[in-house]
Amino acid sequence: MADDLMEKIVSLCKRRGFVYPSSEIYGGFANVYDFGPLGSLLAKNIRDLWIKKMVQEREDMFLIDGSILMHPKAWEASGHTTAFTDPLIQCPVCKKRFRADKIEGWELKKNNLTGQWEVLKQGSLVCPDCQGNLIPVVKEFNLLMATEVGSVTGEKTKVYLKGESCQNIYLDFLPIRDTMAVKIPFGIAQIGKAFRNEITLGKFLFKVREFEQMDVEYFCAPEESDKFYEEWKKIRFNWYLEEIGLSKERLRWRQHSPEERIFYAKDAWDIEYKFFDEFEELEGVHNRSDYDLKQQGKFSGKTLNYFDPINKKRFIPYIIECSGGLQRSFFALLVESYREEMVKSEKRIVLKIKPVLAPYKTAVFPLVANKQELIEKAKKVFNLLKPEFMTMWDDIGNIGKRYRRQDEIGTPWCVTIDYQTLEDDTVTVRDRDTMKQERVNTKNLIQYIQEKLR
Ligand code: ATP
Repeated sequence: MADDLMEKIVSLCKRRGFVYPSSEIYGGFANVYDFGPLGSLLAKNIRDLWIKKMVQEREDMFLIDGSILMHPKAWEASGHTTAFTDPLIQCPVCKKRFRADKIEGWELKKNNLTGQWEVLKQGSLVCPDCQGNLIPVVKEFNLLMATEVGSVTGEKTKVYLKGESCQNIYLDFLPIRDTMAVKIPFGIAQIGKAFRNEITLGKFLFKVREFEQMDVEYFCAPEESDKFYEEWKKIRFNWYLEEIGLSKERLRWRQHSPEERIFYAKDAWDIEYKFFDEFEELEGVHNRSDYDLKQQGKFSGKTLNYFDPINKKRFIPYIIECSGGLQRSFFALLVESYREEMVKSEKRIVLKIKPVLAPYKTAVFPLVANKQELIEKAKKVFNLLKPEFMTMWDDIGNIGKRYRRQDEIGTPWCVTIDYQTLEDDTVTVRDRDTMKQERVNTKNLIQYIQEKLR
């Protein structure tokens, strides 16, 4: 059942231009994907809404857009060069690599300082892929992706693609503190790329090597961190529930166990979504104490602190971090909104996405494609709507087929220009979810859709 739904979503994504496997003409490039025309719009709408909710509608947040390349010392300071590891087991027969902690029966514990993994319990020694015999040797595998900068051979510097997007927020704390007249508490938000040499891949967009993270780092006084932690937990859960529109029954909180929690974190919870059979992580909301600023301060020789003019106190702020993946939100949204319904004994596939997130808000159809007056009038309506909303033109096949196509990509309103339009300037607007049609005067059309979008 779960595999079936997954296959249907992957197929829809490809068929309708949401997601294409990267470099497919070369046979693909494992677990790297491109957003196609529809996917780009959906991803953009998710990003835009996130910025609106996390930055625009608040008074204490600043948005940055940091570079992918950073000084390599930043990754030493953060511990990524040593401790950003997964436990690797390689099958000697088929040479496939696996995460030991994902093989049946294995229990491992990571030393978060050294990145070394200790085997607590050895599990199955059967290769999950070829059924060959596994050798029970676990190696530490660093997930950072490295590249080189510089133009002179032999003098190039090894740098890392961001293993997590948020690191330049910590580095930009100082210039933001000094240029933006900030008062604590305040936060920095960023949507940025992250790259990881993941061992276990698969699951479509859930685990990929190149993805985007949508991060909030909220700086506050240590004694207030518990209060703001609880506030941000509510805000972020609500994002998935109310803004993305995921159902309550498929969302949950999971607290990190003491063994799993990184040693410097005061508390750590993940928001999880039941994509198919299991709950899996959408976002981590963690109280990271003052560790990040302390570490970057130690390695850079700068003091990353804040002076509180009221209490005349200087301190290193605590950070509440909310780090979610764009691809996971995108995927969860598709899983949640994919429906198959029977309409007059025919199956319709419909994406019941919130209109604000839908790639196209409207589609315009002339009733038939071979009547000049209808086409001219429909083009006028199309040109009227286009500057206001993402609007698609469709005159291929009959109206029923066009509705089905728009249902599949989640377009909330289809506007049809028919013979009556030529007489009284009204069009039909058909609602994706109820499939009901209303006649609306073209003069009121923009307002009609704007009101529905609100
Ligand atoms: P997981 O163990 O579930 O892969 P993680 O704990 O390593 O995730 P974090 O380092 O906390 O993830 O990253 C924050 C968020 O970034 C995750 O909650 C997830 O939404 C997203 N993310 C992390 N790794 C990937 C990946 N390989 N592909 C897609 N999204 C990812």
